[in-house]
Amino acid sequence: MAVIWAKHALLPAGWSDSVRVEVGADGRITNVEIAAAPAGEQVGLLLPAMVNLHSHTFQRAMAGLSEARGPQPRDTFWTWRQIMYRFLDHLTPDDVEAIATLAQMEMLEAGFATNVEFHYLHHRPGGAHYDNIAETSERIAAAAARTGIGLTLLPAHYQFGGVDRRPLGPGQQRFGTTPDEFVTLLDAAEAALRHLPPDAGIGVAPHSLRAVSPEALALCESLRPGRPLHIHLAEQIPEVDEVQAARGRRPVEWLLDNFSPDPRWTLIHLTHMTEDETRRLAATGAVAGLCPITESNLGDGIFNGTIWRDAGGRLGFGSDSNIRISLIEELRTLEYSQRLRDTGRAIFAETGRSTGRALYDAGLDGGATAAGRETGAIATGLWADLCAVSLDNAVLFGRKGDERLDSLIFAGGDGLVRDVWAAGRHIVRDGRHSDHDRIVADYLACIGRLQEVM
Ligand code: ZN
Repeated sequence: MAVIWAKHALLPAGWSDSVRVEVGADGRITNVEIAAAPAGEQVGLLLPAMVNLHSHTFQRAMAGLSEARGPQPRDTFWTWRQIMYRFLDHLTPDDVEAIATLAQMEMLEAGFATNVEFHYLHHRPGGAHYDNIAETSERIAAAAARTGIGLTLLPAHYQFGGVDRRPLGPGQQRFGTTPDEFVTLLDAAEAALRHLPPDAGIGVAPHSLRAVSPEALALCESLRPGRPLHIHLAEQIPEVDEVQAARGRRPVEWLLDNFSPDPRWTLIHLTHMTEDETRRLAATGAVAGLCPITESNLGDGIFNGTIWRDAGGRLGFGSDSNIRISLIEELRTLEYSQRLRDTGRAIFAETGRSTGRALYDAGLDGGATAAGRETGAIATGLWADLCAVSLDNAVLFGRKGDERLDSLIFAGGDGLVRDVWAAGRHIVRDGRHSDHDRIVADYLACIGRLQEVM
């Protein structure tokens, strides 16, 4: 059994002082006590560690490569996607693993304990399968075994190049499966998780309404009942227009009219919704998977945060393209996007809960649900997913209650994260992953190889 003692901790009932947390050998919290005497690992501020609910780890290696202007008069998401496809032509399974390992390490060092990996890079360049159809899924699992992060693996089904069922384009061949192949791939990917600790889990990710037929979406829904089901939805205006033209409904409208989203569903982005769509979808309990840094970087647009929140909508945070992996900055970026649009302040704050607290609480709830993981609070029985933040610094010293999260999110940086545990595995100490240097060295070797071939 491990013991962690925190000067201050965020518990389900609120802020508490002198908190003792006991963690069993199985990685679950076995006891939480307040007003306890210092013992074991002593930290300043202890928070439940959040889930990163949406990531494509391989994209970490192309961060910063798409910021120059292309030949088109206007640079958009779609030119970024072209660069991504070119980059993909060169990635080997070894590269996929080295990049995922680095990205997961950075997630842990940023205060995330879980990587929900929406994984669609399945095949060889050109589309031929690897001997093992789940080769790259196994590489994501191998990365998690090395970094110690909690993994929810979402193998993605990608059938078509557009809503009209056009064939996959040249850049998309590595993603494609028929529904039958996808069933095989999902089983094999799930088998790869058996080598991981028991907090790892599976889910299913029909890529988007562009990439899967309605029948395939229904198939995906049926494959792992009770496990997370994620889909990209309404990220870009051309995508909304394409769905509207082909199916006579906007994407969110179409989903609501043809399926029954519920808390099992996480809808990634949801950037372009009408007010009516926002209210209807929020009422289902489905989670909005927001990726504010990536959405800003790609110029997607601004989420209907106030309407979603007022309608009781649930949300969580993901790092998506991994252009920058920062939990604090995801939360800050969401709030600032709303302030800029509404010329207001403290948009997500509620009576009795500050902006930072409301955002963090929302992310814990939505993240746990989206990952299908027993996490999201410092409470007996849950996985010990914990994040300790230093208080002896200019940002947090002397702050009380919710001011701690507000200062951390709006005035702080990632360097304030000191320790992270994922299901009791204490893998970040003093702000660094226990295998930091070797993981970075392996990543640099991978980038060196890629620079030569690209
Ligand atoms: Zn995505």
